[in-house]
Amino acid sequence: MVPVDIESLEFITKTENRARLFFKKFCWKKGHIFCTRCRSYKIYRITGRRYRCKRCGYTFHDFTNRWINKLKIPYKKWLWIIKLFELEVPAYKISQQTKLSYPTSLKAMDIKGFWSYAKQRFIKFHGVSKEKFPLYLKEMEFRYNHRNQDLFILLAKNICDFVPELL
Ligand SMILES: [Zn+2]
Repeated sequence: MVPVDIESLEFITKTENRARLFFKKFCWKKGHIFCTRCRSYKIYRITGRRYRCKRCGYTFHDFTNRWINKLKIPYKKWLWIIKLFELEVPAYKISQQTKLSYPTSLKAMDIKGFWSYAKQRFIKFHGVSKEKFPLYLKEMEFRYNHRNQDLFILLAKNICDFVPELL
């Protein structure tokens, strides 16, 4: 996958629809859409960009039961959150820049790869406390473990994952 630099970020954040299509690519392997309830591939399209399962009748869309859908954050903003995180901008600044409330942007980051980052605020504001230090390490570990990977793509993929308890 091509890295998302400023130029391509400009392109995919131009419209909400482009941003949506960017994330959609991470939702379905090779574009094969399946029922997110019973896993059947026998589905058909209905109105409003939704699908219905022929087997169990479940109605869903591309982002149903996925992290990205848990918060009411526009897709364009998600892209910015990821980019700013990739550039190691602190959580409170991400919230200022995206005009999301601080709790919302923390919640947004409460996802694999992001979660430890959210806790970093304690370090920024209160110094590294004994109990928060492991969380700080977690983020460092995450960045280190994925140092050869594209963090942007990885996080985009992560937020398109299914929320486990809903499966
Ligand atoms: Zn089904």
